[in-house]
Amino acid sequence: MAIRTTNGRGMRYDSVLDTVGNTPSIRINRIAPDNVTVYVKFEAFNPAGSVKDRLALSIIEAAERDGSLKPGQTVVEATSGNTGIGLAMVCAAKGYPLVVTMAESFSVERRRLMRFLGAKVVLTPKGLKGFGMYTKAKELAEENGWFLASQFETSANADIHEATTAREILADFEGERLDYWVTGYGTGGTVSGVSRVLRKERPDTKIILTEPDNAAILGSGYINTRNEANQPTEGHPHFNPHPIQGWTPDFIPYVLQEAIDHGGYDELLPVAGADGIAWSRRLAAEEGIFTGISGGSTFAIAMELAKDAPDGSIMLVMLPDTGERYLSTPLFEGIAEEMTEEEHAISLSTPSAQMAAE
Ligand code: PMP
Repeated sequence: MAIRTTNGRGMRYDSVLDTVGNTPSIRINRIAPDNVTVYVKFEAFNPAGSVKDRLALSIIEAAERDGSLKPGQTVVEATSGNTGIGLAMVCAAKGYPLVVTMAESFSVERRRLMRFLGAKVVLTPKGLKGFGMYTKAKELAEENGWFLASQFETSANADIHEATTAREILADFEGERLDYWVTGYGTGGTVSGVSRVLRKERPDTKIILTEPDNAAILGSGYINTRNEANQPTEGHPHFNPHPIQGWTPDFIPYVLQEAIDHGGYDELLPVAGADGIAWSRRLAAEEGIFTGISGGSTFAIAMELAKDAPDGSIMLVMLPDTGERYLSTPLFEGIAEEMTEEEHAISLSTPSAQMAAE
């Protein structure tokens, strides 16, 4: 096999913001069953490491266009992490101050990442769940005249997935079958935006949506109440805390409502967080694809689908972010810090082990 060469992109970028999107669709070669071909759309390739970079850039530039965000104005948002990290990257690049509200239950490295990117992080009590951090962001915007990014309500969310994510999928699968597209939801921006395009351009593609089995709020059939601004006015009664960070808040977001109302998915399948963690570990250790718990969970559903899928089916699975964001979470539980017995044995197998012993 000849040595690999690269040619560069043949261009220079004017800003880190121009590198958002155009993430690769990558074939899974070792852990998927033989009857299907599985690709993952790996959103960790975005500059701040997640699918939410698309949304962050879209929110800020839509608000710049319509004048609702003034130069130098502070941006505020409630976010479990990836939106905050994406917004921090965009705000840093464009020079806006950013304040993020976040429940204290989310991973510590997310807070520190946002602060590293220049944002301020205000923690809200774990007991108040997603609704608590959301209320805090709203209050801060009202009291201080800050720009509330409103990821759960803004049309800039699904619009950017229609304009970018979906177009990338069409281009990558042009002239090729695409039998299943699999995704989870947090705000619902990915599924609402991509399904607009797939329904029109790829009507044969089955859209599979998934949510945590212990927080199956869509599956419950109950839609929470919302106010005139489309913000939730109650937490969802079927919500329970789940380990799939970034997925399923404790309310059904307005952005997701579009997919519900317009048949934006064919099937809704629950997934156990433990299965998501197990598949995320296998993706890393057996494919070299390092994604978070939501990516593993989406992949887990693809593996379920594969059991009954017609031979030769082609699937595309969304992997929303990088696994590096989960070092202090259950994803890394049991990953040793000290040498394991096997590693000790390897160490003892060469002469210098003798020197260390002396
Ligand atoms: N996975 C992770 C890790 C996320 O942060 C998000 C966004 N909150 C999603 C999945 C879901 O994306 P969307 O908001 O577009 O539904």
